[in-house]
Amino acid sequence: MDSRHGALSTRTYEAFKTVLFFYVLLTQSVKVQRHLRARGIATSIREFYTWIARHVIMLALRLPSAQHKVRTEMDKAKLDIEDKLVPKGADVARHLALPEKGQTPEWITAEMDKMDNEMGLANTWKNGKLSGAVYHGGDDMEKVIVAAYAKYCVSNPLHPDVFPAVRKMEAEIVAMTLRLFNNPDGAGTMTSGGTESIIMSVKTHRDWARAVKRITEPEIIIPSSAHAAFDKGAAYLKIKVHSVPVDPLTRKVDLQAVKRAINPNTIMLVGSTVNFPDGNQDDIEGLGKLATKYKIGLHVDCCLGSFIVPYLEKAGLADGSNGKYKLSPFDFRVPGVTAISCDTHKYGFAPKGSSVIMYRDAELRRFQYYVNPDWSGGVYASPSLSGSRPGALIAGTWAAMQYMGSDGYLESCRSIVTCARAIADTIVASVPELYILGSPPASVVAFGSQDPKVNVLEVGDKMAKRGWHLNALAGPAAVHIACTRLTVDRVDAFIADLKDSVREAKLQPEGKGTMVALYGLGNSSAVGPAMVGQLATAFLDTLYKA
Ligand SMILES: *Cc1c(COP(=O)(O)O)cnc(C)c1O
Repeated sequence: MDSRHGALSTRTYEAFKTVLFFYVLLTQSVKVQRHLRARGIATSIREFYTWIARHVIMLALRLPSAQHKVRTEMDKAKLDIEDKLVPKGADVARHLALPEKGQTPEWITAEMDKMDNEMGLANTWKNGKLSGAVYHGGDDMEKVIVAAYAKYCVSNPLHPDVFPAVRKMEAEIVAMTLRLFNNPDGAGTMTSGGTESIIMSVKTHRDWARAVKRITEPEIIIPSSAHAAFDKGAAYLKIKVHSVPVDPLTRKVDLQAVKRAINPNTIMLVGSTVNFPDGNQDDIEGLGKLATKYKIGLHVDCCLGSFIVPYLEKAGLADGSNGKYKLSPFDFRVPGVTAISCDTHKYGFAPKGSSVIMYRDAELRRFQYYVNPDWSGGVYASPSLSGSRPGALIAGTWAAMQYMGSDGYLESCRSIVTCARAIADTIVASVPELYILGSPPASVVAFGSQDPKVNVLEVGDKMAKRGWHLNALAGPAAVHIACTRLTVDRVDAFIADLKDSVREAKLQPEGKGTMVALYGLGNSSAVGPAMVGQLATAFLDTLYKA
């Protein structure tokens, strides 16, 4: 009896093992097959090759002699970064501990002025030779924002019963923005910026997909031109990302490749209006059709499009000119769009630290919330990542929107977009060495080189020598400018400096500027990205050098 029982359980055990083996084999091969399907065979082989090459080189770099060289180079680069960021000298006061006695308001202002001047760069942004970064609404606007700040300096919307006006202003900011994107019955919340808006949307779609579609291993599909915030959010939330190539000419995401990457674990697609690298727009209607067909989310990133793209139509600029710069539908009127992020702190001219994440309906927004009824500190419920939040920023944003009004935003859209298109048109007409990436409908213009004798990153470095702070791009190598109110009056200066820079880059390339060094390194070898990663980490360390 006993031995028969023993034999039976051994057999059951063996059968169980076999089933388990085939189960694991099956699920793993489904994963591999989906991965290959999404990336394509050629890309998968290339990725695998890069992965191997990188590991081999990293191993080689562990040899003592190589390690010494890498460390020396790295230390040199770190010192370079420090020199650029941290003021030096015996007369630089360092405040490393609290003062024994509190300082006077006069001392505080004077000390700030001194710090501003230590690097000799105080207020350089005001000369307008800057891509994006400062979305200045003018001196009067600054006064309006500061007054709103002052009034709500200590307010905290985590306690709406104590600060009812702040609660009302936040609700109104969301309502106004929803109307701008043609979804008055939709829902949304404010966040601290575009990155938080995007991370919240990824989380919302993840929790929605888990509840409604029982997806436990979520994946998102993003264009290769999508903002890094999607990768960041996916990394935080343990979500797999498929980055899909964009068409080299139009710079719009390849819809066929998006379709191939969709599988039963897909929770959301992403499209930009407009993307950060080159200011072009994805085909939102095409993405919307896919999202509807496969019953998944579609996030439209209007962080940078902000308060510009909703006004292009009203400004009569949506149709473009000469077949260029056309804007296609992108907001909640497009079926399939489930979420849109819009940064009030970019072209809304609100103070930094404010953005709006919008959803098609209030039901979807609920998946964004965090609610803990059992906390020993009381019932805890909060709409987004932060707990306590600055009510002053909400008041500042509300004030900025009231001050600008629809006519103000319409005018800013008209002048900024006209500036961007003038830059693009002039480059096409009079700088034959360069070409424009795609056909950007809004405020960003990116240019690459079509002349083998001109390295566009070298052009960027020559522009830096002339005082311009532009952005370098990696795939393909290019440089962009995001036009703002500060650049509107600088088109002629920009073009003149650009022509000089191209000429100089062609005749006297040095190959030593920051853009060439950093991006050249990143693209030149398999190990480049790892090195650049180490440098970027060193850069972050330097930020906290007191
Ligand atoms: C700026 C930007 C973001 C993220 O914005 P932050 O406010 O810097 O967090 C997202 N997407 C695009 C296209 C952007 O330009």
